[in-house]
Amino acid sequence: MAYDFDVFVIGGGSGGVRFARMAAGHGAKVGVAEERFWGGTCVNIGCVPKKLLVMAAEYGAAAADSAGFGWDVPAGTHDWPRLIAAKNKEIDRLNGAYKRLMATCTSYEARATFLDAHTLDVGGQRVTAERIVIATGGRPVRPTFPGAEHVIVSDDAFYLPELPKRIAVLGGGYIAVEFAGIFSGLGAKVDLVIRQQLPLRGFDEDIREGLAEAMETQGITIHRGKTVASIEPIGDAKRVHLADGTMIDADLVFSALGRHAYTQGLGLDAAGVETNGFGAVTVNAESQTSASNIYAIGDVTDRLNLTPVAIAEGHSLADRLYGAGPRKWDLDRVATAVFSSPPIGTVGLTEAEAAKGGPTDIYLTKFTPMRHTLSGRTRKTIMKLVVDQATQKVVGAHMLGEDAAEILQGLSIAINAGATKADFDRTVGIHPTAAEEFVTMRTRARVVG
Ligand code: NDP
Repeated sequence: MAYDFDVFVIGGGSGGVRFARMAAGHGAKVGVAEERFWGGTCVNIGCVPKKLLVMAAEYGAAAADSAGFGWDVPAGTHDWPRLIAAKNKEIDRLNGAYKRLMATCTSYEARATFLDAHTLDVGGQRVTAERIVIATGGRPVRPTFPGAEHVIVSDDAFYLPELPKRIAVLGGGYIAVEFAGIFSGLGAKVDLVIRQQLPLRGFDEDIREGLAEAMETQGITIHRGKTVASIEPIGDAKRVHLADGTMIDADLVFSALGRHAYTQGLGLDAAGVETNGFGAVTVNAESQTSASNIYAIGDVTDRLNLTPVAIAEGHSLADRLYGAGPRKWDLDRVATAVFSSPPIGTVGLTEAEAAKGGPTDIYLTKFTPMRHTLSGRTRKTIMKLVVDQATQKVVGAHMLGEDAAEILQGLSIAINAGATKADFDRTVGIHPTAAEEFVTMRTRARVVG
């Protein structure tokens, strides 16, 4: 049977675009549909604009820090609309670049839904394909408590016309702590409501504690072990009622209670594609769904919801289906960063995870980074190495502090290559840096496991 396309991709985000480009490069006839914006969440309402806002927030403190270095900088004011306009210009540029990347494919700016396993409705047009790749990503969870219609989610935050003075942030995950840092850094009074005692469940405990302390030092109020009962509008403001009776008055409530796979209305049943109980598409190790000609990559599979992982999955799949074979990525120990204030970089096992596997040596250092010896800002950097005692392999590295993300990228290569503590010890440091602490930690802090 002749199909319109060899392969059709639903979703023009990071994973979908990489797959489509690579498959077309291998000679496949590729169609791609994107209903919202080319580049998807990461480029438009995720990683990229978020990082620009993080950078903007850092300037506020940098001006104050410079006094310790002899500068006399008057306290400035921040122009949010100007920042958003500059950000939008850059995102438009990137958006165009992503669209141009699709030149080797047939692209549709439309919603695609399944009619059967080989047929799609693409903006009212019937399109057939031998294979179909689902790369529709995720969407923020919208809470359901009374008054939930008054919250905004991360999609909305990138287009706020003004920065409100008082912001309540709900959630303790990546997005909540990143935006708490952004809002606070740009001058808002921030209340963070988390249902655990510390933010970032799943991260290393020392790093979680260090971040909570840094956030509180910066002026963010953390409401620990609390959940929201309801939100009551009071004029233009909102009153957040917590389940224990506490109230928080805010001008804006920002909810970051997780994301879910975006599969609603996709017609997966018509194609025989199975999902888990949360709507995420289930796939095997080769990204194949329960329908043998249909594949899924990236956040829609709700596994490691990170852009570079979606890109790796898309690239690998295109190579496997149309190229010389899959390029291998090591998805067991993927380094990740949280662009909180200060940022976190992490790779491999946490102390608690490693301890479950047997005796583990922990190397830990906490210090005031050089910049803050003169700036006077109370801010500590924390670094930790988790070492399997039997093999002496470094199985985890964690950092809270300036440049953590940049530093951890290099360390993740060493750790993925199987470096031992002795390999770290015989590496000569770069002085004076914070990073050199990772090769100069000589004294074991404790043994766990
Ligand atoms: P996360 O899953 O990271 O965090 C969700 C947070 O919401 C958790 O603190 C969770 O608490 C809390 N929560 C969930 N449901 C409720 C509830 N009913 N009541 C109270 N609290 C609740 O989600 P995010 O939205 O922050 O981010 C989604 C994903 O996007 C991340 O996991 C990550 O994979 C990706 N991402 C990556 C970034 C990066 O690489 N820098 C940046 C942003 C996002 P609890 O811990 O108790 O479950």
